[in-house]
Amino acid sequence: MGLLGTGILKGLSVTLTHFINTYLEDFKYLGKKAGIEPRPLRRQSPKNYGLVTVEYPKERLPLPENFRNIPFLVRDSQTGEDKCTSCGICAKVCPPQCIWIVRTTDPVTKRPVPAPKEFYIDSTICMNCGYCAEFCPFDAIKMNVEYELSDYGRIKEMILDKERLTKPDTYHAAIHPTDWAREQAEKAAEEEKKRQAEEAKAKAAAAKAAATPAKPASTAPQPPAAPPQS
Ligand code: SF4
Ligand code: SF4
Repeated sequence: MGLLGTGILKGLSVTLTHFINTYLEDFKYLGKKAGIEPRPLRRQSPKNYGLVTVEYPKERLPLPENFRNIPFLVRDSQTGEDKCTSCGICAKVCPPQCIWIVRTTDPVTKRPVPAPKEFYIDSTICMNCGYCAEFCPFDAIKMNVEYELSDYGRIKEMILDKERLTKPDTYHAAIHPTDWAREQAEKAAEEEKKRQAEEAKAKAAAAKAAATPAKPASTAPQPPAAPPQS
C-alpha cells in the first residue's frame, strides 16, 4: 500500500482541506457579519478549522493574564506617588542582576528616603522570570505584557529608566484584573484588621478608666484666709 503513495496523498489531502476550509470560513463569516466585525481569531492548533497559523501582525493572539515580559513600576494614581520604596529586594533576588536602583537622599539630613531616585532594568539581560514582582513586599513592580520592544539602539533604548518603567496602577488593574482584585481584598482586610485593633484598644482603655476608683476629695483643713490689709 505504501508503495502506491497513499500516505503522501493522505497528507496532501489534509493540506488541501485546510486550504479550502480557510476560504470557506472567510466566506461564511463575511456572509454573517458583512465584514463589520473582525474575523474570529484562529488559535494555533492542529484541530483548527482552516488556517492553523495566526496572521501576525494583522492578527494577535489574546494574551493570558499571567503572560509576562519586562517588569514595570507601579505608581499610585490617587496619590501620584511611586509605590516603590527602593528597598532593593527585587535587585537582590533578580537572578541575572539586571536591576539597578539609586535611593533618594534627604538633602538636609542626608538620610535615605524610601523612594527611588533612579531605577533601571536592562531589558537585554532580563529573563522575564517574574521573581522581582513575586518578592516585592509593596506590590510596586509587576510584569508587563508588552512584547513588541525591538529597537535599533542598544543602550538608552534597551536599558529602561524609571520614567519608561513607571505606569499607573490603573494599567496594572486593566492587564491583571485577578491580581488587582486580590491586592484590593488584602488591602481592605488589612484596614479592617487595623480598625478592629484600634476599636479594641479604645474599648480596653475605656474599661480601665471605668474600673479605676475616682480619687476622694481632700479632707485636710484649709489654711485660714489672710487678714485684710489696712
Ligand atoms: S520594586 Fe519593590 S522590591 Fe524593588 S525596590 Fe521597589 S519596593 Fe523594593
Ligand atoms: S523578571 Fe526576573 S530577570 Fe527580569 S528584572 Fe525581574 S527578577 Fe530580574
